[in-house]
Amino acid sequence: MVDDIEFIAEMENKVNSGDEILLPEAQRLLNTANVQILAETANRIARRFSEAQVDVEMLLNAKSGSCPEDCSFCAQSSFYESRINKYPLLEKETVLGRAQKAKESGADSFCLVCAYRSPPENDFNYICDIIEHIKKCLDIDVNVSLGFMTKERAKRLKMIGVKRYNHNLETSETYFSQICRTHDFSDRLNTALIVKEAGLELCCGGIIGMGETAMQRLELAYSIRNLSPNEVPINILIPKSGTPFENLHGVSPIDAIKTIAVWRFLMPTPIIKIAAGREVYFRDSDNLALKAGANGIITGGYLTTNGNDPSRDMQMIQDIGINQG
Ligand code: SF4
Repeated sequence: MVDDIEFIAEMENKVNSGDEILLPEAQRLLNTANVQILAETANRIARRFSEAQVDVEMLLNAKSGSCPEDCSFCAQSSFYESRINKYPLLEKETVLGRAQKAKESGADSFCLVCAYRSPPENDFNYICDIIEHIKKCLDIDVNVSLGFMTKERAKRLKMIGVKRYNHNLETSETYFSQICRTHDFSDRLNTALIVKEAGLELCCGGIIGMGETAMQRLELAYSIRNLSPNEVPINILIPKSGTPFENLHGVSPIDAIKTIAVWRFLMPTPIIKIAAGREVYFRDSDNLALKAGANGIITGGYLTTNGNDPSRDMQMIQDIGINQG
């Protein structure tokens, strides 16, 4: 049998030739002790397929809390007593101001996120107004994440110029019932498919460190790969007080790096975005993720958690010698 280093090189050649990495191969990559070589190889694959660019996105939580779903990791669920700032859908000018800030900070895109199972009709119409207003006033890509979608709504979002729709699978199909009981994996899959059918770009990833096994993490990666998304956010659980997952510990930085690297072998072309958890788990070494196969970040904070200042993130990208997207 070839040694680990030769095996990683073989897998790189396989990816470069356009062949897919099979599950036993992905397992072997994940189990390697040569993490640095794994990461460097994943980095080479990312740069080869993405022209050495990093995609930078800024989020706005435009409607916070009171979500009727019971996702065990989420501080915005109405099932749990989490200390977060809850508010209804923000006014148009407030959202525009944040989009302007994203543009000034140098972000490639602005993502408007709302905590709904699915927006009520009036809110959906107002969100569409907001998006049209942003598109009229600013030259920035607008992405959204609004929960479950119908075909009609997805088509309308496409028509008004939304670029990408975020809807994560969150975790593997076999672990899903451990993280949520108000909807199931197939509901999430269904919206992802509707988004694609409407011609929107799909942003679809998940959260690691919720108690799933390494195998279930791979299972999630394969489910995501089957959807051919344009972007794959990898979040690392930030345990939120008041939620059922408040005492979990996420994953070690090494496991996070291995996950990012192996997902890059499985999915050479999409943007792999290191999302929530980057600042918490990697602290000042968060550039490591961008040297292990990731080629995207979220800057300026998350939905209920603060993040790095955008100027610090832009400097980090410059320092590691790759271009912003
Ligand atoms: S993850 Fe989304 S659907 Fe689940 S509770 Fe939070 S806001 Fe609601």
